[in-house]
Amino acid sequence: MITRPVRERPADQVRTMVAEGLKRTGYDEVALTSLSTADFSGIDQVVRDTVNDPSCGGQVSVSLPSLRVDAFTVGIAGEIQKARRTGLTFAPEAGTWRMRQVINKLITEEDLYAAVRSAYSQGWRRMKLYFLTGLPTETDEDTLGIATLARRCIEIGREYHRSPSVTVSLGGFVPKPFTPFQWFGQNTREELQRKIYLLRDELRRDHGIKLKWHDPKATMAEGLVSRGDRRLGPVIEDVWRHGGTFQEWSEHFDLDLWEAALERAGLREEDFVYRHRTEDEALPWDHLSAGLHKDFLWQDWRDALAEVGLEDCRWTPCYDCGACTGYGIEHVVASAVPPAGGSQGTGQDLAVGGEVPVVLLASKPVRVGAG
Ligand code: SF4
Repeated sequence: MITRPVRERPADQVRTMVAEGLKRTGYDEVALTSLSTADFSGIDQVVRDTVNDPSCGGQVSVSLPSLRVDAFTVGIAGEIQKARRTGLTFAPEAGTWRMRQVINKLITEEDLYAAVRSAYSQGWRRMKLYFLTGLPTETDEDTLGIATLARRCIEIGREYHRSPSVTVSLGGFVPKPFTPFQWFGQNTREELQRKIYLLRDELRRDHGIKLKWHDPKATMAEGLVSRGDRRLGPVIEDVWRHGGTFQEWSEHFDLDLWEAALERAGLREEDFVYRHRTEDEALPWDHLSAGLHKDFLWQDWRDALAEVGLEDCRWTPCYDCGACTGYGIEHVVASAVPPAGGSQGTGQDLAVGGEVPVVLLASKPVRVGAG
């Protein structure tokens, strides 16, 4: 939310950076990382140019760490396949359409299956599917929907391979400040564990599907740090003073340290992590500004509960969430500037048919191509 709106580097700039980086370092592997790499409008060309770059001996391996399934294309899979193939991760994030509407990941099952089919048909045997559990309004049906998706992916894989495999990676949802979910009371450790075991038992007899999950105890600590207030500073220091370093590494994480530190500070994890906040409650980060309007976030939270998804503002008129307008800035899509004699069109047209949409931040209110 705080890094909205989406802005892109020009594709040729990415290509140059990749080529120069490879030349100067001698590496033969490139990871194109961003929140949603495959959404980058020049991704096909960047991948194609990179794996085919003769100056790299045609041996460059490209990895796209997590692909948003709705943006995945056959072209990308095919291009990556030409070089060494690394793992393929899709992030549907939730097991049912209802749940994905709540979290605004508007990916249909057809999107996922088409992407998975594309990948299997081009030679991949192993996929990783990333999901979250503990999402707002999540029911057991939503949790078990993950098993249904994974099974269908395996079925598709069997059309192409004898023993396809799917690893379901399950994380626990941690609400973050400056998001619509900042008011949501995180699932307790016990509840997360119950959901994980529910899914584990459901998948126990499925060949080819492996379930991995993030420790709910660590998810609790993440929730604590995510939405704690200033009273938590001494707790973090206390954990550290008692030997709690590298707490993000599962082999080093020690819940006892956190519980003891909270107790010494006279605080309870329930108050920070599991409690639902109310609309009029002052939040610990209210005195900080990320541009976003609190009333926009509240409305977005209500919409999420009502299962109303909100399209990305690249393709719609501005919602005035505050990320730009809160700073007196409006965004201009560079490629939206029509060629001489051309028509301006709408944001939608530009998204589909335009050149690489470089999104610039302009200092005066100019709005192009958005209704
Ligand atoms: S202020 Fe408008 S254009 Fe900027 S991120 Fe929010 S919705 Fe998008």
